Order: sequence, then structure tokens, then C-alpha cells
Amino acid sequence: MSWQHKIDQSLQQRLAQAAYRRRQVNQGSTGRFLRVENRQYLNFSGNDYLGLSQDATVIAAWQQGAARYGVGSGGSGHVTGYTQAHADLEQQLADWLGCPRALLFISGYAANQALLAALTAADDRVLADRLSHASLLEAAASSPAQLRRFQHNQPESLQNLLNKPCSGQTLVVTEGVFSMDGDSAPLADLHQRASAAGAWLLVDDAHGIGVRGDEGRGSCWQQGVKPELQVVTFGKAFGLSGAAVLCSQPVAEYLLQFARHLIYSTSMPPAQAYALQTALKRIQHGDDLRQRLQQNLRQFRQGAASLPLQLTASDTAIQPLIVGDNQQTLSLAQRLRDEGLWVTAIRPPTVPPGGARLRITLTAAHQPADIERLLEVLHATCH
Ligand SMILES: *Cc1c(COP(=O)(O)O)cnc(C)c1O
Repeated sequence: MSWQHKIDQSLQQRLAQAAYRRRQVNQGSTGRFLRVENRQYLNFSGNDYLGLSQDATVIAAWQQGAARYGVGSGGSGHVTGYTQAHADLEQQLADWLGCPRALLFISGYAANQALLAALTAADDRVLADRLSHASLLEAAASSPAQLRRFQHNQPESLQNLLNKPCSGQTLVVTEGVFSMDGDSAPLADLHQRASAAGAWLLVDDAHGIGVRGDEGRGSCWQQGVKPELQVVTFGKAFGLSGAAVLCSQPVAEYLLQFARHLIYSTSMPPAQAYALQTALKRIQHGDDLRQRLQQNLRQFRQGAASLPLQLTASDTAIQPLIVGDNQQTLSLAQRLRDEGLWVTAIRPPTVPPGGARLRITLTAAHQPADIERLLEVLHATCH
């Protein structure tokens, strides 16, 4: 079979499975609104939970950073791509989260890949919540370590795996807030069991950081848990992009030696690191934004409780409505779109079979009238 044939065949297969993915040009978004094909929609599918992607002070900081440092870092952090803006941001993140060190990565995806590749060897094992993000599960699957998955948010299921012998080290992997359900991991219980077995815990808090806990310090802080490894990302509540790994001194030094995504890749633009410092300050003083988000959540959940669709146990910005059937989910999303509401339909294998859903995300940028409109259309469409 030729390359051409192989590619054509894969595309045909995708089409036949109604799983073909297409991108649409976003002609302008304010967090609250989105323009696609010259039509304006209310946006209920972004991850910009606090609306910071449009924050005037963060935008100004990026401009100042670009004027001061130029637009690119010019190399990997190990060569000349590590500036005072990067160093200051790392220190501020470490201080904020009460961890000895923070190391910046270009994205959460890269951070997870780098961590699992650098830490694990053939005798080791990774025990991951089965609903963990693709970047974690794929990194673990392609690492030399053995991957075993435990039942979602079930410490007993983790315990069964921990009880089995392992000649190497064990890394337990979970998320602070799960991206497709919006529910939270029982971090204290998981950490206690991991520690008792001599294992380390890695918490990916992509959806919790900035949104939960004092000063937005995230799920670990909120639950009073200090995992050995924490990943925070800047593409969601921070409103920019990038990520950081929070860890001990020796782990940070180890990653600087062995994390290939740090060594062989250009570091983030210093202007971005500079803008992230401003976003961090806004998050630390962001009780107003978090309260607005909470009000929006309360309004949505109250109004959605009487829908014939199931809400999840979520107190976060991610508020999915479980529909079940794929086709029904797609047509619901389409009808919402016809009414000017942009909501994403999520189908298996991104979620378990029979778990197709509307993944509704709320932000601090939404106004009460926006939520009201969403509820009105949902009630008109679902009953
Ligand atoms: C979004 C996300 C990532 C990826 O982060 P990026 O910075 O977008 O690459 C990793 N983990 C989880 C849980 C996520 O939701």
C-alpha cells in the first residue's frame, strides 16, 4: 500500500464513522462572544474561565514585554532562551503555590509528555485515573513503564493496583478537575494511599488552577494536599498558554537534566512569561472574577435541574449535560447553534460509550442574561 493510499483510506474511514474533524475560523472572540461564518454566537465552549484572554492589563503587559524583550526567546532555556521574565514567573508561581520550584513548559501537553518520559523506566508503573487527559494517558502508554488505569475517582480501585507488587517505582496520576465531567478527584485519599505504598502522586490541575481555592491556587491547595508533582496550565483560566511543573528542588534539577522538551525546544517568548506574571497577579486578586463565575454556575445549575438531561457533580466552570446518544447530542448542539449559542458536542471515545454530552463551559465574562438565554433555549429544545 502506498503512502497516498494509506492516507486516503484513513480519511475515508473517519468520514464513514462520522468522526471527521474540521476546524472553523474564529473570526473574533471576546470570551463571551464568538464569530463564525459572519454570525455572532454566545460562547459556551471556551476554557477562558475568568475572561483573562481579553483583560486590558494582561494585553498591555504582553505589549510591554514584546517592546522590552522582542517577540521570541531565541532558543531553548538551556542555551539563551531563559530570561529574567521566565525566572521571575517561575519564582512567583512557586511562592504562590507554596512549592520549592516551578519549571515552565511551552504547553501542558509538553509538560505531561516530558514528565512521564523523563521520570519512568522499564520496571516502573503508572497508575492513572481512567478518565485522565489524553496527554497523560498517551505519554504513559508510550513510556517504558507499565500503564494501569483505575476506576474514575475511586481510591479503592487504585488501592487494588497498589497492592500488586512492582519492582520499580510507582507514579499515581490524576487531575484536579476532570475536563469532560467537571468533577474533582479525592486528592487527600489518593495521596494518602500513594504515600503509604511509597508511590508519588502527579496532579494535573489544568481546569482547577485560577478557579478554585484561596487566591485561585487550585484543587490541591483547596483540598490541603501537597502532591510530589503538580502540573498547572496557562491556556485555561490564565487566558494565555504554556504550563508549569511544581516540584521539589531535586526533581526540578532532575528535569533540567532529563526532560527533553526543555532541552531541545525553544522556550516560550519572554513577552508571554512577562504577560503571565500580570495574569497571575490578576488571578491572585481575582475573588471578584471567581465570585461572578460562581454566580453564573448557581444560576445555570438551578435552571438546568428541571431539564430531562443529567447534570454532573461539578462545582466548576465545566457543566456538561449528559445526553447519551451520539446523534441526539449532535442535533441538540446544532439546534443551539441555530439559536446563536455555541456549545460543543462531545462523543466517545473522548467520553465513555453512551456518555455523549453537551460540554457547556461558563466563564466570569458571561452576563446573567446570557445564562438565562442558554436555559431558555435548552428548555425549549429538550422538552
Ligand atoms: C488542556 C489540558 C492539557 C493540555 O494543556 P495545553 O497547555 O493546552 O497543552 C493537559 N491536561 C489537561 C487536564 C487539560 O485539560
